[in-house]
Amino acid sequence: MIQSYKQKHEISDHYDTIIIGSGMGSLTTGAILSKEGQKVLILERHYTPGGFTHVFKRRGYEWDVGIHYIGEVQRPNSIIKKLFDYITDKELQWADMGDVYDRIIIGDQSYDLVKGVQNFKDKILEYFPQEEEAISKYVEMVFEATKSSKNFYLDKVLPSLAQKFSGSIMRKPFYKFSDKTTDEVLRKLTNNETLIKVLTGQYGDYGMPPKKSSFFMHASVVRHYFSGGNFPIGGSSRIVETIEPIITKSGGTIVISAEVDSIIIEDDVAKGVKMKDGRKIFAENIVSGAGLMTTYEKLLPSEVVAKFGLKEQLQKVNRSVSHACLYIGLNGSPADLNLPKTNLWIYPDDADHDTCVERYIADINEAFPVVYISFPSAKDPDWSNRYPGKSTIDIITLIPFDEFAEWTGTRWKHRGPEYESKKEKISQRLLEELFTQLPHLKGKIDCYELSTPLTTEHFINYEKGEIYGLDHSPQRFRQKFLKPKTPIKNLYLTGQDIVTAGIGAALFSGVLTTTSITRKNILNKIMKQGNNLI
Ligand SMILES: Cc1cc2nc3c(=O)[nH]c(=O)nc-3n(C[C@H](O)[C@H](O)[C@H](O)COP(=O)(O)OP(=O)(O)OC[C@H]3O[C@@H](n4cnc5c(N)ncnc54)[C@H](O)[C@@H]3O)c2cc1C
Repeated sequence: MIQSYKQKHEISDHYDTIIIGSGMGSLTTGAILSKEGQKVLILERHYTPGGFTHVFKRRGYEWDVGIHYIGEVQRPNSIIKKLFDYITDKELQWADMGDVYDRIIIGDQSYDLVKGVQNFKDKILEYFPQEEEAISKYVEMVFEATKSSKNFYLDKVLPSLAQKFSGSIMRKPFYKFSDKTTDEVLRKLTNNETLIKVLTGQYGDYGMPPKKSSFFMHASVVRHYFSGGNFPIGGSSRIVETIEPIITKSGGTIVISAEVDSIIIEDDVAKGVKMKDGRKIFAENIVSGAGLMTTYEKLLPSEVVAKFGLKEQLQKVNRSVSHACLYIGLNGSPADLNLPKTNLWIYPDDADHDTCVERYIADINEAFPVVYISFPSAKDPDWSNRYPGKSTIDIITLIPFDEFAEWTGTRWKHRGPEYESKKEKISQRLLEELFTQLPHLKGKIDCYELSTPLTTEHFINYEKGEIYGLDHSPQRFRQKFLKPKTPIKNLYLTGQDIVTAGIGAALFSGVLTTTSITRKNILNKIMKQGNNLI
């Protein structure tokens, strides 16, 4: 017997597909394969399922970790909406955050990003009346860049031979955008530094400032939120709760506290997994949603890594940055405390984004290069039914892993007084940022707790506490091996690393992975099922 997500389950020795990790990509892969009639086993090492969609509960509060807002789920025909409807049998519902999804705050000036493409343009034009041409051209390029990605994604599921012959031609229009940095593209449109800073004010959503990030990544985030921000009603845990029945219906299971030690490879074919407790479970297909680095560095035998040239692949990509998040509990409901739904992005006003990041990495006592404040309890209309008279706020900033590296290997909650004191200093700085924006919250804070890169390493197994798996440089988008099929027979990848960071992207990775496994046009099937999903 083994502890599944909800109850004790008998685990068989054989499944159609075993999926490592229970993040958004893994859950989507599991749900789609289950709907294709497969018996699926999802193995999650954490004691809560969902990867970054998990929530944690402490001191009478509940905090979401890796979801603050998602775009495109109110548009009935969007791929993201149809996919969520498909994998949850329409059980997952979304709350609209309202007209202003993000507010970019630079010094004492603030700039709202508003829902709807024309509204977005009009609003930015209000702030920068001299920049009409640049703003129009910018929005046009955002659309062009995202449109060009169709073949980039299609290429990921083509058989290797077809990929070799047609791939580079298919990808060419995409590379035109992905090869350039965000800064390069924007500087061709305007030399207004403030406009550039505002338009790139969501860079925290992909973790790389404009001179380092690929313009494609920038464009895909910007476009994603043009239709506004949304939050899962009932909190992020509703994602796994609504997907699980689809998996169990086909005889599958989501198991927690189940760490995979290694992937069993025999005669160059993936056959199963060995668990940390030594148990072996076998399947026709093995899918890893644990991230490229974790899969190749920790889960595969070194001789397999060497034989298939996987080390060379790893050398071509980099880890994304790491972060700290201050999880705050407050006395008073979101309405009592007048909490906004809009996310706040706060930046210093004396330098561009890249300079702010560089000086802070050199000395973290310098101004935070970005502070992101999110108000999850205000976004969720069901919150006050579950937690009356309470509220939560999350504040995120960048923290280099090296700042906490000396505590690697220490035990969670037992890392010692110096670690706690370093955390407290950062917490106080972040609280100060909050009180500058919302001074009426002074005296309302009931509790707070800071996560560090070591927390991310501990719970989600990203070795350097990476916030978004691989980074989103132009070079990343040139790597053809970032696709579901690995060189090892019957071993597949899913999750953010084979597409990009973001819930919508990880969701889509599940479509790519299941397309590779079943060799069926899964997307077509889902889009066609339209309104008759159940
Ligand atoms: C702080 C933060 C805020 C974010 N905010 C947003 C947002 O507002 N909107 C948005 O769209 N995106 C957001 N994201 C990004 C988004 O959450 C991720 O891109 C996405 O959830 C990644 O999904 P994934 O499928 O790649 O799996 P992950 O969520 O990365 O999960 C991987 C899973 O694999 C498990 N695992 C690892 N090793 C093993 C092993 N050996 N055995 C078993 N299991 C293992 C891990 O425990 C983990 O559960 C945010 C991310 C973070 C960190």
